[in-house]
Amino acid sequence: MQDKKQWDVIVIGGGPAGMMAAGRAGERGRSVLLLEKNKVLGKKLLISGGGRCNLTNNKQSIRTMALQYTGSDQFLMSPFSQFGVRETLDFFNSRGMKTNIEAEGRVFPESNMSQSVLDVLVDYMNSGNVSIKKNTGVTEFSFDKKNKNFVIKTEDDKKLITHSCILATGGTSHPETGSTGDGFVWLERHGHTIVKNDFALVPITIKNDWVKRLAGVTISDVKLTVFQDGKRQDSKKGKLLFTHFGISGPTVLNMSRDIGELLRYGKVTIVLDMFPALDHGMLKANIQSALIKESNRKLKNTLSDFIPTAFVPIILGLTHIDGDTPNHSVRHEERIKLVACVKEMVMDVGGLLGASKAIISSGGISPKDINFKTMESRFVPNLYLVGDILDINRPSGGYSLQLCWTTGFIAGNSAS
Ligand SMILES: Cc1cc2nc3c(=O)[nH]c(=O)nc-3n(C[C@H](O)[C@H](O)[C@H](O)COP(=O)(O)OP(=O)(O)OC[C@H]3O[C@@H](n4cnc5c(N)ncnc54)[C@H](O)[C@@H]3O)c2cc1C
Repeated sequence: MQDKKQWDVIVIGGGPAGMMAAGRAGERGRSVLLLEKNKVLGKKLLISGGGRCNLTNNKQSIRTMALQYTGSDQFLMSPFSQFGVRETLDFFNSRGMKTNIEAEGRVFPESNMSQSVLDVLVDYMNSGNVSIKKNTGVTEFSFDKKNKNFVIKTEDDKKLITHSCILATGGTSHPETGSTGDGFVWLERHGHTIVKNDFALVPITIKNDWVKRLAGVTISDVKLTVFQDGKRQDSKKGKLLFTHFGISGPTVLNMSRDIGELLRYGKVTIVLDMFPALDHGMLKANIQSALIKESNRKLKNTLSDFIPTAFVPIILGLTHIDGDTPNHSVRHEERIKLVACVKEMVMDVGGLLGASKAIISSGGISPKDINFKTMESRFVPNLYLVGDILDINRPSGGYSLQLCWTTGFIAGNSAS
């Protein structure tokens, strides 16, 4: 069914780049419709910076800022001179969101909550009368060359026509947030070059020495939980392989992409639980009965009935317990320490093995295909591309979101 209303601009994707673009177009008096397939806006924005949102980096010189985007600096001089870090800080601060500058120039909302950033963007769109349709995934997107119109079909079988379209569907990382790469499929059909996403499944390097001493050991049915800033980020059960640099195996490889993403924003730790099927009490009771059963045996020998032999000296070392102690002399607090140790072995992540390149180069639309003065596609007139959909290298520290604010604002400023 065709929607009767004619929109000046349709924005596809309600992430930070799409919301900024929609807000700016609305502020200019355009009639704007924003389509988002999730029930909520900004799902990825909300988890950014460990939930605190590192929204930009305090590099106010346009040139210094552009130089952070290795290989794309020449494209970004013009965009940053239109809407750079200074304009971004003014934008949020003037709308009542105070910011703090932390180590290495990283800027966070004073509230330490990504929600504050989202609230500003939603208010911005509302003040410009942007119509927001959540829970509305776009299923088809095409450009009608004859009528110079975009034809957009949505999950609820609506057909929308517009003269001007802003694509802000994101990249492919964290697909559970909605970024499933839909825009790439549509754009490839319209002549755009898609630089392939080169995130890799990679082993993880660990800083703790005890991990390296286990090189070659494999343990099954363990649980790995990932933490950043004390907050649990992910958890998986399976097999773990220790290597001379850290950890590997399928469970680790499957977690590596998310860990790589988190590393861009701070320290990451992985907690290993060797007995996920038993809680602390049950495991303590099991160990206790083994100690009683063979009370004259040495603790280190009894422990090797529970855990791989290579682990025994490591556990004893971490808990500072003498392995030659006869079982009958193992004290209550030592048993508690042993249980806590095998259920919560903390590993400090160093990085992804050889993947630093993959982490910062996430693929997408080649910047050569874009006019950066307006963010318009060089292949399709009145089509604007913003945010993570672009293949632009950037380091950690708020540079990804700055790219969203800059490209989003310029597209919203240009689309008519
Ligand atoms: C764990 C994590 C932490 C991060 N922390 C930071 C940080 O602190 N600082 C920083 O600068 N960057 C951070 N980033 C990166 C930053 O979040 C992204 O660069 C940013 O979200 C990209 O915004 P976007 O609007 O381009 O795309 P997205 O945020 O991916 O939004 C795209 C939107 O489009 C919607 N969409 C997709 N397809 C369709 C469709 N067919 N129909 C309708 N809607 C559709 C999606 O549902 C989604 O809401 C982090 C990323 C991750 C994964």
